Parts: sequence; C-alpha cells; structure tokens
Amino acid sequence: MTTASLDAATRVHNFCAGPCTLPVSILEEVRDELLNFDGIGMSLLEDSHRAPAYDAVHTAAMADFRSLAGVPDDFAVLFLQGGATLQFAQVPMNLLADGETASHLNTGAWGKKALSDGRRVADLHEAWTGADEGFARMPSVDELDIAAGSRYLHVTTNETIGGIRLPAYPDVDLPMVGDMSSDFLSRPIDWGRFDLVYGGVQKNLAPAGMAVVVVKRELLGRSGRDLPSALDYAVQDANDSLANTPPMFSIWVMGKVLKWMIADGGLGEFERRAAERAALLYGAIDSSDGWYLSPVDEASRSHMNIVFRLPDEDLEKRFVAEATDAGMVNLKGHRSVGGIRASVYNAMALGSVETLVSFMADFRTAND
Ligand SMILES: *Cc1c(COP(=O)(O)O)cnc(C)c1O
Repeated sequence: MTTASLDAATRVHNFCAGPCTLPVSILEEVRDELLNFDGIGMSLLEDSHRAPAYDAVHTAAMADFRSLAGVPDDFAVLFLQGGATLQFAQVPMNLLADGETASHLNTGAWGKKALSDGRRVADLHEAWTGADEGFARMPSVDELDIAAGSRYLHVTTNETIGGIRLPAYPDVDLPMVGDMSSDFLSRPIDWGRFDLVYGGVQKNLAPAGMAVVVVKRELLGRSGRDLPSALDYAVQDANDSLANTPPMFSIWVMGKVLKWMIADGGLGEFERRAAERAALLYGAIDSSDGWYLSPVDEASRSHMNIVFRLPDEDLEKRFVAEATDAGMVNLKGHRSVGGIRASVYNAMALGSVETLVSFMADFRTAND
C-alpha cells in the first residue's frame, strides 16, 4: 500500500453504521507513529501497557474523556473490553443485588438485546415495547410501566438499526442507565439523570475493541455479588482500567479523537454538526413528495442513523449499487429491516452528506 491510498481524495464516503469513519488526519497520525512511537523505537502496540509511553496515552485519554463529556468527579470512567454487548449483562451484575429489579425500554434491536441478555443474570421488567409499531418511535413518559422497586430505567438513547433516538431523556423519577453506543458524545449528557452510561466506541469515537462505562462510584460493589475480577467494575476502577491488558489500540486512537473533538469545540459543536447533517438528509427525504420515505416518527428521528425507503426494493438495490460506484459505501439498511441507512457519525464531513443528497436527487430524476 502506498501512502497515497490514505489521501482524502482517494477515500470513499463511508456511511457505515459501525465501525465508523474516522478523521483522515487521525489515520495519518496513526500511520506516521506506527513504527516508532514518540522515539521509543517501536510501535505503542508492542510496548508494555505499564511503560511510560502507554501510560501517558492512557492517562490523557481518561482525562480528555472526562473533560469533553463533562463527567462529574463522583463518576468513574472505565475502559473495558467486550464491547457494548457485554454491558447488557455486566450492568445488572454490578448494579443489582439478588432479587432486585430494573425496568427496560424495548425500543428496537439493541434495547431488545439489552433486555434479553440482562435477563440471563437478573429479573428485569419491560416497561415499554415498540415491537407492535415496528419500533418506529420512542415512547413518552406517560406510556411507561415502570416496575415498583426498580433500581434504574435502562434506555437505548439511539437505536442504530431502526434509526430512532430519544429526543430528550425521559423525565422519570428514578435514575437511568443509558446505552449510548451509537450517539456517544454526539450531544451533551445530563449526568444528574444517570447512574451509569455506556457505549461501544466504534460508532463515534474509535476503532472497535472496547466500551467506555461511566458509573457513579458510590454504586461500585453494591450488588454484593461475588463477581469474577474481569466483570467487576470496582476492580477496574481501583486499577484505572489497567487491571489486565487494556485494548491499547482503541484507547490510543480514541485519545486522538477526543483531542480533536475538544479542539473543534466540544459536544455542543458536535451536536450542532449532527443536527446540520440530519437536517440536510431529512430535508432531501421530506422534499421528495414521498419518493424517498422516512419510516420513523418525526419526533424520534435519529441524528446518527438516517433510514429511508425507496418506492420498491429493486430500486433500493440499484440505489445502493450506484451509490457505491459513485464512492458512497455502506448505505444498505440492516438486513433485519431493509431499505437504506446512512450513518453520519461525529467524523462524517458535511461535504459527504451533500454528495449523498445530490446523488439522491439525480437518482430520483433518473428513475422517477
Ligand atoms: C453497536 C451497538 C451495540 C453493540 O456494540 P458492540 O460493541 O458491538 O457490542 C449495542 N448497542 C447499540 C445501541 C449499538 O449501536
């Protein structure tokens, strides 16, 4: 591979739902530092995770995550292997004592999986399901049936497959646990409402390989369960997420992404950019007289995963194929729902969305 293949000019517009597109400047930095990191004569990936070079990267990533997300001092930030999927079970293991319950919103593919995996370790209650309506919207607070004694309400802030998001966090009078995997650090987090927030990093922040868990420290150890050390948040917190070998590559790259986000203006700015990208795409859909159709409730529309349909499946196949030929890849909807899905995470340039919107107009003209 030549260095030219990393030039922005030869890269595609990548609308992948996860892993995500990353800023080219950061990929170039990683390339440049790969063989000899900061003069240590080897890559960071080959050095000890207890050596000074990695320690500096790890400590900075922790501090920058805290600063960018505005994490209060009484919350621990944990870098954990196993992705967001492991958290579906690890959260109740750590937060629920034997016999305790929590309520869950079943708002789509991920909310459903969080509930079914969590039920393998705890007695969890489904407070609402969108299944009968094809998971096309988020619920309002008065529709929720929260079980008495629930320790927390589990929400999926953005359903990556269905393309819906919680426009605002539900105003319930119990703490929430949030799976924020697909809109992680794309908008400010109201920490007063959450006991715990988690997300796989590969949608918005870094290459795949870990989840970040942010949890109120006073809750560590509260389940009273005798957990294996790798599953116990308290063990990782006491060791600054270095109890065992951490996912060094993910953390290294995430650290660069966090610095880039801080320099570019922080979460308010990234929320604004996301709204701008989403407005452009939904605008193209809504102004097409129903030729392109958004299948989800308008108030619940995701700013990260924009799903839409064309008049028939044959046209959808051709749309994906012709877009790919034109350098716009990974636009096929999830196999479980079909259609088109454009994922436009933090690092997605507005110009890529403009390219897609103009392709949409041309495609319609050619096929209407
Ligand atoms: C992708 C995703 C997950 C699963 O993440 P992994 O890191 O692959 O385990 C969970 N929840 C949501 C909302 C997601 O988008």
